[in-house]
Amino acid sequence: MRMKAAVLYEVNQPLVIEEIELDPPKSGEMLIKLVATGVCHSDVHYYTGDVPREFPIILGHEGAGIVEQVGEGVTSVQPGDHVVLTFLPSCGRCRWCHTGHPNMCDLGAKLRTGKYLDDTYRHHRASDGKDINSFLFVSTYAEYTISPEASVLKVPDYLPLERLCLLGCGFTTGFGAATNAAHIKPGETVTIVGCGGLGLAAVQGAALSGAGKIIAVDVHEAKLSMAKQFGATHTIVNRHNWKEVVEEIHEITWGVGTDYSFEFVGSDQTDETVKICYEGLRKGGTLFMVGVGRVSKKTLPIGPTNFSLWRKKLQGVLFGDAQFRVDIPRYIDLYQQGQIKLDEMVTQEFRLEEINTCFQNLLDGSKMARQVIRYD
Ligand SMILES: [Zn+2]
Ligand SMILES: [Zn+2]
Repeated sequence: MRMKAAVLYEVNQPLVIEEIELDPPKSGEMLIKLVATGVCHSDVHYYTGDVPREFPIILGHEGAGIVEQVGEGVTSVQPGDHVVLTFLPSCGRCRWCHTGHPNMCDLGAKLRTGKYLDDTYRHHRASDGKDINSFLFVSTYAEYTISPEASVLKVPDYLPLERLCLLGCGFTTGFGAATNAAHIKPGETVTIVGCGGLGLAAVQGAALSGAGKIIAVDVHEAKLSMAKQFGATHTIVNRHNWKEVVEEIHEITWGVGTDYSFEFVGSDQTDETVKICYEGLRKGGTLFMVGVGRVSKKTLPIGPTNFSLWRKKLQGVLFGDAQFRVDIPRYIDLYQQGQIKLDEMVTQEFRLEEINTCFQNLLDGSKMARQVIRYD
């Protein structure tokens, strides 16, 4: 079938909206008509080349839509079902899926190639048939997509897909970092560095867990005022002086530092943001690395002596350490009860044709929490 999609041909060049020929679903796959996709900052890492990929590629990994057609052997959904796409697949059979870590599923090894699980492409340029790389088996900057059943979760059909799409990456990643990875207990203290979509979801997770102090740090004051709305108890403007920020964290915590800190910025900022997270921790505290850094960068600014003598801990977090077939339905219940806020996370809606504006907004580091593209 023919559809429109946004194709990235080169780093830092505008995405091109063009006609794509999409193959029918093969065994274990389905065709999904996308209703909405969040514009997650992780896509920008591929756009800028922080994380290299094969081009051309159709990015987008925070989608939700309606199943149109299922391939042979698909049992968990049928045409007409509403679904959220998860940017990581889970097979349900490997060691990691069986030990409560579907975010580390062995299918993840196939995500780097741009091909599907059978090592072939589904997307082809309509004008000349050239193969186009897919992204994480979801490629949501398009009117339709093909996804394996491992990447799809059925959701209630009476809730807005233009909000539930955030559960496919950003919200689940940020909220889960606070609730699954850190297991914040009532009264514990946290520093959250970077208050975009992920950081604001972490603020919500910390608030719902009963954190005593939630210190939000960002370079943009507008983002900090959003963090306050979502439950931050203190905010600090990072004026690119990490010592000043750390002093403020210590002042707020009576000289102790916070129990946990979360790094949500990544990119080429990690020398500064990790320093803030690490130095702002209490003795024995844990730093959770969530932001996607530049692949070419190989070091973190953490001194080995201080690391052992202060008994600090460092932990990577992927997709909020979510068991997403269990956690996303939990989050949907909390959304319905008004305990987590998805509507307020969406600051602006766009059409696919405006995708380059969305990317520019993210690069400018503007006041957006989440931009959502709608296809309906
Ligand atoms: Zn994402
Ligand atoms: Zn698995």
